[in-house]
Amino acid sequence: MVACRRMRTGDLEVMNSSPDYDSANIFAKILRGEAPCYKVFEDERTFAFLDIMPQAEGHTLVIPKFGAADVFRLPSEDLAATIITTQRVAGAVKKAFAAPGVMIAQLNGSAAGQTVFHLHFHILPRFNGIDMRMHARGMADCETLAAHAERIKAVL
Ligand code: AMP
Repeated sequence: MVACRRMRTGDLEVMNSSPDYDSANIFAKILRGEAPCYKVFEDERTFAFLDIMPQAEGHTLVIPKFGAADVFRLPSEDLAATIITTQRVAGAVKKAFAAPGVMIAQLNGSAAGQTVFHLHFHILPRFNGIDMRMHARGMADCETLAAHAERIKAVL
């Protein structure tokens, strides 16, 4: 991989978590600044960044800072904050990519296809007649992801 400009969040902590939460997952590492990401938004309870294996250009993930594996384990205040951020970021993604449609998806449990066990909402711009790519497969290149993050941030 060529030199990436993915940001480290640095001083963030996973603020709190449900009892059975495994804080070794990649999104917890991103929140703690131990792994880099293409951040687009952050507030007190939530964090948004680009999916590194996008199923469409602009594929963005929104997560709570609270450590919860799935929707059933997230306190309602954090769930409310996460869906409000999802609405806001989805609007920015829609505008930034001039998308006529936006898909918002959230998977719970491996049987549902979940691969990272920190709750997240997927935001995917959709266009008539254009299929999504496979889930969590091909890695996008750094420059493209960095440019896409800037496009979304410019709208937010
Ligand atoms: P899910 O299968 O719903 O749990 O989605 C997990 C998503 O996280 C997939 O779409 C992956 O492409 C994405 N993903 C995995 N690792 C990273 C990472 N380091 N940074 C950004 N996205 C990631």
